[in-house]
Amino acid sequence: MFEVVIGLEVHTQLNTKTKIFCSCSTSFGDEANTHVCPTCLALPGSLPVLNKEAVRKAISFGAAVNATINKRSVFNRKNYFYPDLPKAYQISQFEIPIVEKGELFIDVNGEKKRIGITRAHLEEDAGKNIHESGQSLVDLNRAGTPLLEIVSEPDLRSSDEAVAYLKKLHSILRFLNISDANMQEGSFRCDANVSIRPKGDSKLYTRVEIKNLNSFRFIQKAIDYEVERQSAAWEDGKYDEEVYQETRLFDTVNLVTRSMRGKEDSAEYRYFPDPDLLPVEIPEEMYNEAIKIPELAEQKVARYERELGVKEDDALILTSSVETAKYFEELVEAKISPKLAVTWLIVELLGRLKNGATIETSPVNSAKMIELLRRIEDGTISAKAAKEVLDYLMENEGSVDAVIEKLGLKQVSDDSAIIAIIDQILSANADKVAEYKSGKDKLFGFFVGQTMKEGKGAFNPAKVNELLKEKLG
Ligand code: ADP
Ligand code: MG
Ligand code: ZN
Repeated sequence: MFEVVIGLEVHTQLNTKTKIFCSCSTSFGDEANTHVCPTCLALPGSLPVLNKEAVRKAISFGAAVNATINKRSVFNRKNYFYPDLPKAYQISQFEIPIVEKGELFIDVNGEKKRIGITRAHLEEDAGKNIHESGQSLVDLNRAGTPLLEIVSEPDLRSSDEAVAYLKKLHSILRFLNISDANMQEGSFRCDANVSIRPKGDSKLYTRVEIKNLNSFRFIQKAIDYEVERQSAAWEDGKYDEEVYQETRLFDTVNLVTRSMRGKEDSAEYRYFPDPDLLPVEIPEEMYNEAIKIPELAEQKVARYERELGVKEDDALILTSSVETAKYFEELVEAKISPKLAVTWLIVELLGRLKNGATIETSPVNSAKMIELLRRIEDGTISAKAAKEVLDYLMENEGSVDAVIEKLGLKQVSDDSAIIAIIDQILSANADKVAEYKSGKDKLFGFFVGQTMKEGKGAFNPAKVNELLKEKLG
């Protein structure tokens, strides 16, 4: 009886080398306050200088989501007071963001759905408060890191749709190579705005904002909990009392949301244009460069299907991360047959990665996989033997050829060795040979099987087939 309405705000850290308004490094995880300067420490007299890389990346994002890119946008001061924000205002964009009116498409239960992107604007990140042993400390390494805040329309209708949207957005950012979008490191953070309304009603009801969700699972749980809470309040006749515009936090231990503070209206931030920064005017040349974006996952899926004959389900797995797609494309560029590449990447390699190992940290990189698959294709080893080689290489060092040698897996293609075995088999099965010759074709498989067995898997099956055909006439 209720319809769920969700709009998401995502803060993604752009992967520029330096901060958005100074030349301090953006590197993560270093000693506190080692990447700071007068500008990001907000010392009097320091002035911000806009990082063009951040602008370029924002434009690429706009191009990827079919948005309007404002050739002129404006930076504002957003005033608020927290110890991690040394200027006491954040430089952000307000009335004129760099990107507006975009869209992306999600697939949920086999249906394609358009989700509007209201805006995406550039802003600086704050530092980090650290509370330990009764003290509060602040680390300003992150202060001034470029963020792109991406705001969706309230078009999402379930937590499943919200997760699908976030995964799509995550993929776009990664394939564009404009953000690491690493959720653990906080470079992809999401605030979820959630409301309910009676089915059929088109007006928007009171929204609650759940802050700083940093895993897909928590986002799903937080939304589900919040929908439950609001629906229960409605059914108990307590909606007006219990659901009001506020900011809530998700408790990841008890999987509930808790009130944090009343929600500020934008008026409380007293936005005004930053007098230290000129409006951003995007030069024509920069614009034209930045909108030339690389192939995204969705386009790769279509191309793999069309040009390489890959099945859709497989193509989706191959494009589930930038690294997997790159690995696959390297195999195909090395002229490994796409079919072999798909199986060996999806079934054999991904199947062997465990304990959090990923394609990037796989002991068998694409170059090594290419060597291995070439040895299958040129008949040096059987597919079965190749699996042994792969098992070995997942745990040990070594070149493919050296491992084949070491494990004694080379297929015998030498005719005389195979013929000797075939002669044995045929004379030991004279009755079956007679049956075969009188028309029982099916027995051919029996002879192949026996020969392969005697050869202990080392015989090249193509060769065995060929020689048996000759012998049996
Ligand atoms: P603020 O910064 O005040 O949160 P924004 O405009 O940045 O405002 O973000 C508002 C977000 O809330 C958008 O994603 C929008 O789609 C969503 N939203 C607005 N109204 C509702 C509502 N009634 N229910 C759910 N989401 C909503
Ligand atoms: Mg918000
Ligand atoms: Zn700095």
